[in-house]
Amino acid sequence: METTQAPTATLEPYQQIRLGDKPFGRQICLAAVGSEALLPLLQLWSQLRQDYPKLVLQLLLFAADKDSRAESLKVLQSKLPLGQTTEATASAEHQTSEVISLLAELQAGKPLAIPGCQRFVLDGGRLTLDLYLEFDATLLKELPGVNHNGWIDNWLWLAESLPSQAEVWQMARLAKDYASLLCLPSKRSALASIMVNSGLNIVDFNGPAALLLTQQTELEPIAKAERLALRRQSNARLAPWPLYRESTLAADESIAIIGAGVAGSQLALSLAERHQPSQVFCSEENAGQSASGNRQGALYPLLTPETSELNTLFQQGFLFSRRRITALVAAGFDIAHDFCGVLHTGFDERSRTRLNKIAEGQNWHPDILRRVNNFEATELAGLDIKEDGLFYPLGGWVCPRALCRAAIQYAVESTYCDFQRRTHISEISREGSHWWLSATDGRRFGPFKKLVLASGASLTALPQTSALPASPFRGQVSEVATQGGLRALKTVLCAKGYLTPAWEGIHCLGASYVKDPEQLAYSDVEQRENLQKIAMSYPDADWHQGLVMGQGARVGVRMVTRDHFPMLGQAPDVEALMQVYQQHQHTPESARYWQQTPAPVHPGLYVLGGLGSRGLSTGPLAADILASELCHQPLPVGSTLLQRLNPNRMWMRKLIKGKAL
Ligand SMILES: Cc1cc2nc3c(=O)[nH]c(=O)nc-3n(C[C@H](O)[C@H](O)[C@H](O)COP(=O)(O)OP(=O)(O)OC[C@H]3O[C@@H](n4cnc5c(N)ncnc54)[C@H](O)[C@@H]3O)c2cc1C
Repeated sequence: METTQAPTATLEPYQQIRLGDKPFGRQICLAAVGSEALLPLLQLWSQLRQDYPKLVLQLLLFAADKDSRAESLKVLQSKLPLGQTTEATASAEHQTSEVISLLAELQAGKPLAIPGCQRFVLDGGRLTLDLYLEFDATLLKELPGVNHNGWIDNWLWLAESLPSQAEVWQMARLAKDYASLLCLPSKRSALASIMVNSGLNIVDFNGPAALLLTQQTELEPIAKAERLALRRQSNARLAPWPLYRESTLAADESIAIIGAGVAGSQLALSLAERHQPSQVFCSEENAGQSASGNRQGALYPLLTPETSELNTLFQQGFLFSRRRITALVAAGFDIAHDFCGVLHTGFDERSRTRLNKIAEGQNWHPDILRRVNNFEATELAGLDIKEDGLFYPLGGWVCPRALCRAAIQYAVESTYCDFQRRTHISEISREGSHWWLSATDGRRFGPFKKLVLASGASLTALPQTSALPASPFRGQVSEVATQGGLRALKTVLCAKGYLTPAWEGIHCLGASYVKDPEQLAYSDVEQRENLQKIAMSYPDADWHQGLVMGQGARVGVRMVTRDHFPMLGQAPDVEALMQVYQQHQHTPESARYWQQTPAPVHPGLYVLGGLGSRGLSTGPLAADILASELCHQPLPVGSTLLQRLNPNRMWMRKLIKGKAL
């Protein structure tokens, strides 16, 4: 596909656009195809943002101008002011400072040529841009409707090519009834012939303000019927896991969150950005004191050789985490971090084979992962490595507890979050259509229509969630004073164990992995094991010899799922599920039953956890996905990945295939 130049028509006086009236409410969703759409979309936002302080804008940009993602990204980059091309510089000259700063924010967020959605939360959370570097019917089919309906207020078509018939129908499925398709006059007649019966009126695009135009005509019966049929098909894909089951909350109703680690604090932040109040309950004095309490945690994606949803999640999640850290730091929060790269090497034949398979398995973007030989590895690390490996250039380390505290503080300062310290919730109960929380000190909190358990290793401590398939693993991270050759370390090392560059004179080295921990006291044995792991990882190097470990260490418990996916979504009612299972098992009919019937859940109760050993890479995105669902907003993931994230997947995966539990 080739791009085509958008007009730079003057904006209509936007004061005349009556956003307070229907059909546009406090949230506008616009979708566009073609990189050329980026600037008009941002120009529109720069015009609206000040006059409508409550407004949030959700943008979907399918920047698919070329056949490959990498080529499409180049076209998009040429629109960014920091791009190296003359076109970029020229286009920047004509933009307002607000648009320039949005473009710079986007550029700093590192859009990469990777599959799926890259979510950018810009302008303090009021502008969400979901960027796709592809556009086809298969991708569109994956996108769930919001409330099982269309949610796009208007489509903008600025790609050179034309959509296929299948794409048109999916665009219509995702569109609200009154939505139009805006395009350049030169494309009008060609598009009109393809759009016939879709219900999407073709409107000339003569500048950003046109994106807010709405048509009030009734949908033709054919368009109505076709959209209904497609929505049924789309909903059927998620029939066992319906989204948006619970209605949205009134402006003064809070969502309760138990936990203030990476999961809970990021959720509070994502909700605050959506102007959704939350009340966060934390056993400890401060956020980020449990598993998320380490000094330094490695940030890099968990990748597999196969094309898998896990790769998609981790690439998107890891980049989203980086953006979160960067944005909070830009907002003035002190979060120690260094995106110094992560060097991953094997330590025995099996692990070397695995790393080779990962490197060869996919055509990775070089900013995600690239192979390095032992010389490059040594150069990158600043220490003798003597081993070929993989390098994640955008990876690095972050102080998890500082990240949690910044996220909570941001949410509290936004006035959308009430943070309850030292409040250990020992019981939750449902009364009528609300949840009540009882703390160990006798206080009761409620009523809440929605309650999220983001309680880390305690996820299974309550009877409602005790059957969730996640297991606690103790880990001790050694905190070692920098010394000798270690001082030269420039990048995070990861092999049998991991080692971070020094921050304030201390390295983190770890971590042990002990199933079903009985106690959380410091262990001398694990301290020695951590050192042995480093020695085994780099047997021919001498920089770790004679390392004085001391007893500095921190112990935490990770909550691990077998498939490495986090859990997010409504809490399964396993007791009810088992009862229904008695009637529906082992037959093709039973498989059909489970494929078509919403699985039993605890109404209003949600889970956000199972972040395992890589919570820093997936936690922030998982929280944002859940926040989108709680607030009935579009999600940055498709139906297939959503199924993999659902807390009841272990049971449902079998049941929908007619297998025994
Ligand atoms: C030793 C170790 C090393 C790790 N290294 C890395 C790494 O290098 N990179 C990486 O990405 N990840 C790493 N992880 C994993 C990462 O730290 C976790 O995935 C992440 O911190 C989990 O966050 P969480 O919010 O789910 O849980 P937690 O951080 O454990 O938070 C749980 C929260 O729930 C609260 N809570 C629990 N029960 C209750 C209750 N009943 N009432 C009120 N509050 C409650 C707690 O007070 C706490 O605030 C490591 C983990 C460990 C243990």
